[in-house]
Amino acid sequence: MNKYLKLVSKIVLITFLMFSISVKGQSDEEILKSVYTKSLTNGKSYEWLDYLSNTIGGRLSGSTNAELAVQYTKKELEKLDLDKVWLQPVMVPKWVRGEKEMAYFETSGILNKVNICALGGSIATPEKGTKAQVIEVATYKALEALGEENIKGKIVFINRALQPELINTFQAYGGCSVERYAGAAEAAKYGAVGTIVRSLSSRQDDYPHTGSMSYGDLPVAQRIPSAAISTNDAVKLSEALKKDKNLEFYFEMSCQQFDDVQSYNVIGEITGSEFPNEYMIVGGHLDSWDLGDGAHDDGAGVVQSMDVLRLLKESGITPKRSIRVVLFMNEENGLRGGRKYAEVAKTKNEKHVFALESDAGGFTPRGFSFDCSDIMFSKIEAWKPLFKPYLIHYFEKGGSGADIGPLKNDDIVLAGLRPDSQRYFDHHHAANDTFEHVNKRELELGAATMTALVFLMDKYGTETITNTKEIKD
Ligand SMILES: [Zn+2]
Repeated sequence: MNKYLKLVSKIVLITFLMFSISVKGQSDEEILKSVYTKSLTNGKSYEWLDYLSNTIGGRLSGSTNAELAVQYTKKELEKLDLDKVWLQPVMVPKWVRGEKEMAYFETSGILNKVNICALGGSIATPEKGTKAQVIEVATYKALEALGEENIKGKIVFINRALQPELINTFQAYGGCSVERYAGAAEAAKYGAVGTIVRSLSSRQDDYPHTGSMSYGDLPVAQRIPSAAISTNDAVKLSEALKKDKNLEFYFEMSCQQFDDVQSYNVIGEITGSEFPNEYMIVGGHLDSWDLGDGAHDDGAGVVQSMDVLRLLKESGITPKRSIRVVLFMNEENGLRGGRKYAEVAKTKNEKHVFALESDAGGFTPRGFSFDCSDIMFSKIEAWKPLFKPYLIHYFEKGGSGADIGPLKNDDIVLAGLRPDSQRYFDHHHAANDTFEHVNKRELELGAATMTALVFLMDKYGTETITNTKEIKD
């Protein structure tokens, strides 16, 4: 074949391919419009979330509910007529809260009951509880200066509030989460008998917020029980300490860590029509904390991700690459599911080009954050006008999602759905993370927005990545 003929055949092939993926000649604007319309008029995400939240409930790793959620979502994915649906085995930690916690502080003979909850991974108090004087600190870093003479035998109360002036509440949360995660291990080094951490909530209320904590490499014998206290009670306790620094605090917890148990990531796939060996994934985490029903964290991300594959199919979009929905197990207290998925992908030499996670609540979507090269980001930013009619055109460079993080390499584009974050930490990890706090329209807008990005990445992704490489070289 001469050069001219080769060129003509190439153009014909490219035109054919472009036509075949353009969904009956529709423009990108029209395809997005159809995806949003389908999600808002005929979405499945809210119905799935209702079942996950109200029929199953909280889904802590290793619990019966977590396994029910695995079976339920697998069954629902099987109804979608995908090319493949399977379970990926993963061993997960099993921590159980036990009886509801009890706590009070005593001032001049009066018992003031307070709302606490054990932090995930904490040991229990002795059977008759832990009672001691309290030393309040603003951050765990202050412990070093106080030293053993001021801390030994006491309960350390870390009273650090989320900064209200930060518009991105994830930033405020990130600034304080180390207190919850590492506070107990640090306090134990100076002989504390327990830690009480102010809940990482943006609101003043009576809900204690749990979350993971770690003793690091602290020997078992030195470990101390660690709890979160509601923001209202943190203020009360702090006020009382100003009047009586010798007051005593009592708390009782019966949580327990068991051996790891078998669980699963749930995966569904639409196999790519042109590049079946290139993978794009969309996901959220199936596990949740046990206090609420995990509707926002991360039931919302799970059902939105499931609906992405359904909406692609409903919209007649035949993806060029293989699109997977991955429902990760154990994001909250171990990230085992995310690690396992990346490990298996590496072993099988699967080329992942894109991963999108929804794990910031089911609130009104604002846009996405991307973890990728600057060149790649500027190309993605060119799609912003397509999202403008939906007021979802906030694109930023930054983090993506915890579960997809282990897939990171130089070539993959990682992204996170960014919903409005103002109310997320009112509910996060607390008993009020429940279904009635998720708005149907907001949830469905998120599912459509994710579908739109997956569609665009599939349509233009390889071209974009190839061009990026050429510029890099
Ligand atoms: Zn989450």
